[in-house]
Amino acid sequence: MAATHPIPQWFTGSQYTYRVAASILKYGPVARTTLAKMLGLSQGALSRITSDLIHEGVIEELPPAEGSGGKPASVSELGAGASKSATLSAAAGLAAKAGAERRRGRPQTALAVCADAKTFIGIKVHTNSAVATAVNAHSRVLIESHERALTDQSPASVVSCLCELTAECSQDLAAQGLAAPTAVGVALAGHVQGDAIVTFSPFLHWEKPVDLAAMVSAATGLPTGVFNDIDSLLVDASWFGPGVGLNAFAIITMGVGVGYSLAVHGSPVDYPDKSYGLAGHIPLDPNGPQCIAGHVGCAQCLTTDSIAQEYSQMIGHEARFSDFERDVRSGASLATRLVSRTCFRLGTLIAIVANLAMPDKIMVAGETAFIVQLGTDSVRDGINHYRHSQCAPVRFDIVDHDWQLWAKAAASQAIVRHISPVDC
Ligand SMILES: [Zn+2]
Repeated sequence: MAATHPIPQWFTGSQYTYRVAASILKYGPVARTTLAKMLGLSQGALSRITSDLIHEGVIEELPPAEGSGGKPASVSELGAGASKSATLSAAAGLAAKAGAERRRGRPQTALAVCADAKTFIGIKVHTNSAVATAVNAHSRVLIESHERALTDQSPASVVSCLCELTAECSQDLAAQGLAAPTAVGVALAGHVQGDAIVTFSPFLHWEKPVDLAAMVSAATGLPTGVFNDIDSLLVDASWFGPGVGLNAFAIITMGVGVGYSLAVHGSPVDYPDKSYGLAGHIPLDPNGPQCIAGHVGCAQCLTTDSIAQEYSQMIGHEARFSDFERDVRSGASLATRLVSRTCFRLGTLIAIVANLAMPDKIMVAGETAFIVQLGTDSVRDGINHYRHSQCAPVRFDIVDHDWQLWAKAAASQAIVRHISPVDC
């Protein structure tokens, strides 16, 4: 993949070099002793690799004071709930030991990827607009996000919009004296081959495969990777967020559609059909509304259109999703009832995912995830209804909706591909 991937490598090296760099990106600042044990390398072998990476300007050595508050502590917290993850438990234990050594007065330097050596632009494409942001090599957002409307949905118009957004983000980076962007990551709903060619785009309605990566790259002069949007969220969380170090991590998105994806050891499960909305019609509620395919109470009941339709029937006149949202926020009783019902249905979907895929944690995101914040008790009821009473509670996070996160996630994909061509 390294030779043909649209995003070039930051450096060349052996698989071990890529694994070391990837682990430092995920867990840094991290001590050498911890890294060597996590990766099963001798101290000598690890030191040779880290010296090369320091020489290449990929990683840097931080003094003990800066390293002491880094990710090893958060790894340790994650480890508390992920007993099945041998690697993670080892990493957590080692990180704790490193902390203890620091407390006993044996300070260790820690290694981290050079945060500001590189910047990346991430863009999320919607049906009618696109949102862009820029991040550093730790995927920390550096600028205010930019949004532009699509004049139409043709590939040429989308490319022109992405080109303008890239220019705006580049100007912001230059104005702050930051590094010029290394690459662009673009995320959209649908199926993408080789992180480049869009073969299915349910919202852009392209009739034939489009090599969007090549088109954007030619227009911007920057290497560009194109990625499925839900996988991008998953990769962002697995490398830079709540999924770091977990054995298996799942994401459910709810909004215009229902999305689902699963990562194992930080990489999305590779399954050729997964972009076709596989979780979209899973049965959830025998008394739920009927979807366009004729199913009763399938996962489509979590979408904005279905919720608006069900709410319209409850109140006896036509309502849009925004009317429902307004009534939810003002505490109207029928709206509150539909929130509880929707949350119970989501809890059912979470239980199905937890029972079958057995992830350590599930993240819920999307435009309508705010509903879940208002009915977490009903989500728990839905989960418990379909779980054995002796099962451990399902760990789930609800993410406040922000398109900037989706844009950042596209940039995270570009970072991960730039630093590591192998699944780490
Ligand atoms: Zn259905």
